Amino acid sequence: MNIHEYQGKEVLKQYGVAVPEGRVAFSVDEAVAAAEALNSPVVVVKAQIHAGGRGKAGGVKVAKSLEEVRTYADDILGKVLVTHQTGPEGKEVKRLLIEQGCDIKKEYYVGVVVDRGTGRVVMMASEEGGTEIEEVAAHTPEKIIKEIIDPAIGLQAFQARRLAFAINIPKELIQEAARFMLALYEAFMDKDCSIAEINPLVVTGDGKVMALDAKLNFDANALYRHPEIVALRDLEEEDVKEIEASKYDLSYIALDGNIGCMVNGAGLAMSTMDIIKYYGGDPANFLDVGGGATAEKVTEAFKIILSDSKVKGIFVNIFGGIMKCDVIASGIVEAAKQVELDRPLVVRLEGTNVELGKKILGESGLAIVSADSMADGAQKIVALVS
Ligand code: ADP
Ligand code: MG
Repeated sequence: MNIHEYQGKEVLKQYGVAVPEGRVAFSVDEAVAAAEALNSPVVVVKAQIHAGGRGKAGGVKVAKSLEEVRTYADDILGKVLVTHQTGPEGKEVKRLLIEQGCDIKKEYYVGVVVDRGTGRVVMMASEEGGTEIEEVAAHTPEKIIKEIIDPAIGLQAFQARRLAFAINIPKELIQEAARFMLALYEAFMDKDCSIAEINPLVVTGDGKVMALDAKLNFDANALYRHPEIVALRDLEEEDVKEIEASKYDLSYIALDGNIGCMVNGAGLAMSTMDIIKYYGGDPANFLDVGGGATAEKVTEAFKIILSDSKVKGIFVNIFGGIMKCDVIASGIVEAAKQVELDRPLVVRLEGTNVELGKKILGESGLAIVSADSMADGAQKIVALVS
């Protein structure tokens, strides 16, 4: 789960991570009032969306007067920001962070992630802050320094100092930067984050170390023990289809293609996406209805797929193990009754009660193209949508 920058900064502050003072605003008037309350000669008006790259897209503006705050807030609120993280459709700005302007001397990068390679939490730091860290990783990977953290003892002060030295933090601020990193690590662990990224971390003209940006992602499997984090969820930032799917406990991720997929089991769902790609198609989603899905769940899954106007055809690929083919078939028929099935549908069923499942589909009167194998089904749906 993702939260906004201003919320992330509030969380980090509780652990002693230094952040500029700021307030959230939902309207232009609130933005001006917030700037007035900050009482700072320079304030920054920042778009709050669940994506980075806002600065380059015009979503971060430095204001030197209340009039400028008004102008920028008016300009940014309601605007659709297109950044390298939003996708081409962009995201509409509905909230602003009004924050104290900071006298930046130099920008750095610090991030904490769970590293699959080592199976450990890793803290990364770089002198190349403010820019896209993906670019740094691609072109100058030697400029990203890593410390692997032993879970038994956590991030050690010497490791934090080593990182601070390696990225050339001024000598007199090494201690403070190390303290900052230790606090960031503590927040990461305590709140079950999957990512905590500060880009940029800055050294200021008056010798402070601060987080000017904050991106926190939380492990969804641990949210049950963090109601205070769940309360920060902003459903308006999430895909409506994904929200609907989560109500029915379906693993659904919206993608950019035009072939809707309904599959059981994450492994089969992944290979279904692969095989669609292999035959020149593009999946519109990842969807795992799970092992023991009921007809109701299948119906809802089908409705979610059909609600996506990008979907030009559907490929149902089910291996009936725990899941029975007749249950899937009944769900498809029920869904097609509830929502008009106006797009081609290819079904490949295999496994438990496959004959019964095929019979249900055959007698339903629906225009279904049946497939004998995964490859056959993938080729058929790709041909039907193109
Ligand atoms: P994004 O990563 O989405 O572009 P950031 O929060 O990193 O957004 O802001 C982009 C840039 O704007 C920063 O790298 C920094 O140079 C500047 N900036 C952000 N917040 C402030 C602030 N409070 N004071 C001064 N400059 C800021
Ligand atoms: Mg940033």
